[in-house]
Amino acid sequence: MSDRPDKVPNEAKVVIVGGGVVGCSIAYHLTKLGWKDVVLLEQNQIGGGTTWHAAGLVGRLRTTNSMTRINKYSVELYSELERETGHSIGWKRVGSIIVGRSPERMVQLERTAAMSERFGVDVQLVSPKTALEKWPLLRIDDVLGAAWLPDDGKVIPKEVAIALAKGARSRGATVFENVRVRSVLQRDGRVTGIETEHGSIAAEYVVLAGGMWTRELGLRCGVTIPLYPVEHHYVVTEPLPGAFDELPVGRDPDLCIYFRGEGDGIMLGAFQNFSKAWMVDKVPDKFSFQLLDPDWEKFAEPLKNGMHRIPALEKARFAKFVNGPESFSPDNNFIMGEAPGLRHLFVAAGFNSVGIASAGGAGKYLAEWMLEGEPTIDLWSVDIRRFSPWANNRAFLRERVTEVLGLHYQMAWPNREFETGRGMLKGPLHDRLAARGASFGVKNGWERPNWFARNGQKPVAEYAFGRQNWFDCHAREHRATREAVAVFDQTGFSKFVFKGKHVLAVLQRLCGNNVDVPLGRSVYTGLFNERGGIESDLTLIRLAVTEYLVITGSSQTVRDFDWISRNVLPEEEAVLVDITRSLSVIGVMGPSSRTLLSRVTDADLSNAAFPFWESQMIGIGLATVRAVRLTYVGELGWELQVPMDQAMMVYDTLMEAGKDLGITNAGHYAINSLRLEKGYRAWGADISPDDTPIEAGLAFAIDWSKPFLGRSALEKQKAGVKRRLVIFVLEDPEPMLWGSEPICRDGKTVGYTTSGSYGHSVGGAIAMGYVNHSEPITDDFIKTGCYEINIAGRNYGAKAFLRAPYDPQRKRILA
Ligand SMILES: Cc1cc2nc3c(=O)[nH]c(=O)nc-3n(C[C@H](O)[C@H](O)[C@H](O)COP(=O)(O)OP(=O)(O)OC[C@H]3O[C@@H](n4cnc5c(N)ncnc54)[C@H](O)[C@@H]3O)c2cc1C
Repeated sequence: MSDRPDKVPNEAKVVIVGGGVVGCSIAYHLTKLGWKDVVLLEQNQIGGGTTWHAAGLVGRLRTTNSMTRINKYSVELYSELERETGHSIGWKRVGSIIVGRSPERMVQLERTAAMSERFGVDVQLVSPKTALEKWPLLRIDDVLGAAWLPDDGKVIPKEVAIALAKGARSRGATVFENVRVRSVLQRDGRVTGIETEHGSIAAEYVVLAGGMWTRELGLRCGVTIPLYPVEHHYVVTEPLPGAFDELPVGRDPDLCIYFRGEGDGIMLGAFQNFSKAWMVDKVPDKFSFQLLDPDWEKFAEPLKNGMHRIPALEKARFAKFVNGPESFSPDNNFIMGEAPGLRHLFVAAGFNSVGIASAGGAGKYLAEWMLEGEPTIDLWSVDIRRFSPWANNRAFLRERVTEVLGLHYQMAWPNREFETGRGMLKGPLHDRLAARGASFGVKNGWERPNWFARNGQKPVAEYAFGRQNWFDCHAREHRATREAVAVFDQTGFSKFVFKGKHVLAVLQRLCGNNVDVPLGRSVYTGLFNERGGIESDLTLIRLAVTEYLVITGSSQTVRDFDWISRNVLPEEEAVLVDITRSLSVIGVMGPSSRTLLSRVTDADLSNAAFPFWESQMIGIGLATVRAVRLTYVGELGWELQVPMDQAMMVYDTLMEAGKDLGITNAGHYAINSLRLEKGYRAWGADISPDDTPIEAGLAFAIDWSKPFLGRSALEKQKAGVKRRLVIFVLEDPEPMLWGSEPICRDGKTVGYTTSGSYGHSVGGAIAMGYVNHSEPITDDFIKTGCYEINIAGRNYGAKAFLRAPYDPQRKRILA
């Protein structure tokens, strides 16, 4: 299979580190796209890392559109790969079945089935009897229903890796086994090659696809690749009456088990809620075609559950116990893309036990990313830039990954928060807010109050698909912001100082809006890619002629920093500094915010002296802060940027002064509902690199009189677009919307919601979502439709709005 070690070249266009299924897929796709000078280096043998012992399940449906596209492509590829390469990979389209045994699980399956239509995956809800027909050894007396996915299948993982490597070699790639890469070479922020035990290879591009070894490789070149190996278990029985190889892949998520036919026996595997991190100091280099010791004690519960679901297992003898380590990331999504800060170093690792199913698509989209210089679809959910360096702490990873493996089968509750690895980044107000009942969620490590418990209630969310236990608290915080004044801890915002002679020129080139604003003024703008897609939307505050403060979302710290800095030309003088952890942000929002702030500052806060978009340094009690007159909740308000060490003082001053004004602590759930009512989009949900400002209704923030990145693509859309972002409010005040629900226009599905909440001012669930049409969409088209939103299989009437459905000034719902 491999090329002769004495033929290792001393230069190549691309070096891929790691000959698992993922590295081989990247080599296959790079050569398919025309890059032939590709060298793949494997320290041991192809497929001998994690790939060889995988269970071979290939499912198409994932939680996000992009991940589903990745897996769908894998299925297409695997069904053709043998024909193309002449190497058998054991692809069998056996289908898969997910059984549900609780009403909540059935709601989830209904939601899954509804969402799958959007992703173009065939998911059929079937009766327990049909489930039994598909899987005759099942016990179904406690099964309420099932989802049947006819196009899923299985493969022999190691053979997939070999076939992909063979395909790559047939187009010019070279593949070397027993060549270990010691380090990545770099100069001036760009990769220059790699060093092996047999010498170095100069390379234009390096790809780290080293499975669970990749974190170490990253550490050695200063790149954050947070992953950690976890033990994953399955067993295979000896031949069992009634079992056969073509049995579908079965899943019982409530029992945390999966099963399929394996020859004449059955394979039974587990995604337990709390799993075991592999406690090694360093993953051994020579860990090839090896397993960890069987852990029957840990497997006792899955085995018991397996015997419950498949009673025939009670009499089974076991031929094999596989305890294989596999790398997991902190959020159960894999880690792909160009490393921030090190050009031409690409990563594809941390595949969370779905690397076989994902390898085909991951290889394709990573290869496209390398060729195009940017992702060809929105890959934010798997983008390496979603992790900041704090996430690479080993103790944190060891703790977090024990929770992550089980997430595959846990209920996909709306707003589910991680339980492990918490408290990583706490703002100065954390303990004060905790004492006042804050229930915290986590965003990019930051502990952020979601809502505040009252009247002795525990600040712990009870998950449900309908209203959750914080509904009333949320309502109170929402109304307090609309009617009085609320204080929001928004410290997690990412903040950069951008400074230098050419800063304005850089920003004008990247931003859709004209950012040449007077000193002290803030401006909202989008940053677009060549396709016109929204890479980010952020607020800039002009601090000086050559200096801006950049404020962007909590999760985008690394991504936006990377986007802006990589677009500074070498000859330009413009330095970006991340000051996220130096500044706290306290939002003071609501009609009484001016009254409140006037009590603690001598600054003139009148409209004339302090208009919208203005920022000024003002005193708040004894502290000096930058107050910015803007709002994400649609009310009169100021965001106060406070030095971290004075945040507690400012907060105490505000709370004391606002007692008689009904001052209320409010959380991020309130921000979400308030901003939806005001029509403000959230990046990562309502807007993404796949959505343009014209589709998203954000063209008002574009200055067409100047050139900017993405402009030519957007010019073409000016005549009209076939998808538009619309806001929906349900007519029935009872149900909840969370996002991903199908939108029906005149009885036909035309799109899906992108985010949702409950609008307490509009008196119903509220969501945004794109409406699609075969022709350019006019305002009239939106207004004349009859809309319904499908929640778990049932349609609810909805009003559609192209603009904010609520007018805070007049305190009324718009028609
Ligand atoms: C028990 C178990 C069951 C699973 N079942 C499934 C399943 O049914 N379906 C599914 O989709 N996924 C499954 N998975 C997950 C799947 O196996 C992995 O996601 C996938 O194999 C990861 O592939 P990879 O190429 O990233 O890693 P690997 O296969 O580990 O390949 C990485 C390679 O890089 C090499 N390498 C590392 N460092 C260097 C270096 N410095 N120089 C040269 N080479 C280096 C290693 O030797 C290794 O061969 C399962 C995992 C386990 C543990």
